Order: sequence, then C-alpha cells, then structure tokens
Amino acid sequence: MKIITSLHETDFHLKSTFWLCITAGTLVLPFAYYHLVYQDLGIGIGGLITSLSLFLVAGLIYRKSYKTIYTFIWLTPFTTVFVAYLTNKIGISGTYWCYSTVLLYYFMMSERQAWLSNLLFILVNFPVVWQLLETTEAIRFTVTFLLVCIYSAIFLRVITKQYSELTHQAITDKLTGLYNRTLLQDSLTHAIRKTKRTQTAFTLIVMDIDHFKKINDELGHDMGDQVLVQLGAFLKGFFRESDKVFRIGGEEFLILAYNTVETDCVHQAEELRRSIESLSLIPDRQITVSIGVAGLDSAEDWKQWMKACDMQLYEAKKGGRNRVVASSIDQLNKKSFPGLKVSSTPV
Ligand code: GH3
Ligand code: MG
Ligand code: MG
Repeated sequence: MKIITSLHETDFHLKSTFWLCITAGTLVLPFAYYHLVYQDLGIGIGGLITSLSLFLVAGLIYRKSYKTIYTFIWLTPFTTVFVAYLTNKIGISGTYWCYSTVLLYYFMMSERQAWLSNLLFILVNFPVVWQLLETTEAIRFTVTFLLVCIYSAIFLRVITKQYSELTHQAITDKLTGLYNRTLLQDSLTHAIRKTKRTQTAFTLIVMDIDHFKKINDELGHDMGDQVLVQLGAFLKGFFRESDKVFRIGGEEFLILAYNTVETDCVHQAEELRRSIESLSLIPDRQITVSIGVAGLDSAEDWKQWMKACDMQLYEAKKGGRNRVVASSIDQLNKKSFPGLKVSSTPV
C-alpha cells in the first residue's frame, strides 16, 4: 500500500519550498538591484528574472497550482546559463551561487528532475569554471560542489522514505494491515467532491461480524484476532485495488467502492456475505456478517453518508443478522438474494 512516492506530493515539502523561494527570491533582489544600477546590466536583469521566477513559484504553491515540471522546463535552463554567465563575468565569486542553485533544485523538483537538472548544470558550468580558475581552485570547487550534490540527494532520499513510512503507519491498522479511521474522512470527502465534479458513483459498505463477542468469550481473544486478520486479508482480495477497505472499529469494516452504483454494490455485498458464510475461518464454527449499503445519493457530507450506511447496518442486525440491507433494494430482483432485505430508510 504505497501512499507517497515523492516527498514533493506532501504539504510538508511544499511548505518548505514556499519559504525557500520567498527567502531566496528576497536575498537575490539586492544583488540584482546593485548590478542593474551600478554594474553589469546582464547580471542585474538575470538576477531580477531569477528573483521574480522564485516569487512566481511561491505564488503558484500558495494557489495550490504548482507543478515541479514548471521549474524543470524554465528555471533549470535559465539558472544554468545565468550562473555560467555570472561566473564568466565575475570569476570565482560567481561560483558561490552554484551551491544554492543545486540546493534549490532538490527542494523545487522531484528527485529525478533534480538529478537531470544537476547533470545539465554540471555539463554547462564545469567547463566554464575549469577554463576560468586555476587548477587547484577548480579542483576545490568540483569536490565541494559534488559533495553538496551528493549530500542533498542522500538527505532528500532519507526524509522521503521516512515520511512515507510514518504516513503509512499513521493510516494503517496494525492488526489487519487495512486502512484505519485516520484516512476515512478525507477519502469520503474526496469521493463526494469527485461525484459532484465528474458524476462518478461511489457506494459505502459497512460490515460487522455477528456475535463476535461470543467468539472471544468462548475461544479466546487470540482466536478473535486471528479471525479479524483472516477476514481483513479476505476483504483485500475480494475488492478491487481502486476500492478502499478500512477497519473502522473492533470488528467493523468499511469499504468505499469506487465507480459502483448502489444497486451493483448490493449484488457485490450479497456475494461477500455468502462467501464469508462459507469460509471456514474457525473449525466447526460458521462466521457470519451483517452488511449495510448506502450510495451517496442525497448525502451532503461524509458524516451523513456514514450515518445513512450505519442505519442500514442497524436494520440488518435488527432484522436477524447475516444479511445485507440497502435503501434501494426495491430496484432489485429480491428472489435471487435470499440474504437481502428491503429497507425503507431513506439515505
Ligand atoms: P453483534 O452481532 O450485535 O455485532 O454482536 P457482537 O458481539 O459482534 O457485537 P459487539 O459490538 O457487542 O462486540 C464486539 C466485540 O469485539 C467486543 C470486543 O471484545 C471485540 N473486539 C473489539 N476489538 C477487538 C480486537 O481487536 N480483537 C478481538 N479479538 N476482539 C475485539
Ligand atoms: Mg458485531
Ligand atoms: Mg460492532
């Protein structure tokens, strides 16, 4: 269950990039002004463009519309040529800007884009530096520059991995490996937004094991845990990759079915109920589940939607357990679903 593939997808990284752009953009401005007024016009204009580009990136991040490719296709070639021009004009002090440029690359782009940008930067700037500086100075520059590149790459790789692991832990139920409640609100809210925007159908399935307390009491808590683990694995295999399976309580599971209308989902839920009934999770004992199904319909927010689904589950329990209840079952051929019950509860 891979959640984050690049640190750049995280709020945390975007926030650091935002402040880095504001700081770098501000610090470059006085140099740009100095050169524009007193020294080299080319350096002044280049500095000004760099500064404005950094502020533009900060603005895009603020408006939540920043894409790393913007930096890659604009800032990489521009800064590469500009720093080479700078070094050519002012000598060794021009090379100082190489270090901050490389660091910016690692923050502003994906890992792969940063590597490619660095490669281009080295290919263009090293010949200029080696032509301009004495051999000992050029060697010093090369070694320190490569060290900064390598440190930045390692640092970014380590924090990306750690962030990804922490996020994974935070949203995963330890016992079953399914999603836990942490991701629930976000997932349902996202589904509601997507339905409004693209008319994609989502349906909720809430499933609760029948008389689970009895299993714990008679066979022990460890056996109860084993049932939960096996059922979790079964659910993962039963639903598609695009559906999200959560363990939302002790022996309560929730499935967010993607691109599935409620009537189709009821068929699926009934198949699930039957499959679980015939699974032999514990020798000589049948385990059954009650299931509530609710399409998004008129639910305005995630809490309402959950409540609608919980009401169907409640009806299933009240109706005798080991059954599926949904609000729109009257549209189905009930005969083929002996476990199905019609609920008059509006969603
Ligand atoms: P019903 O058919 O009405 O759902 O009856 P039930 O006994 O399944 O329902 P109830 O919610 O009263 O009991 C749920 C039990 O699940 C109580 C609790 O001991 C048990 N439980 C909750 N979390 C865990 C867990 O992580 N492991 C085990 N083994 N048991 C758990
Ligand atoms: Mg139960
Ligand atoms: Mg329960």
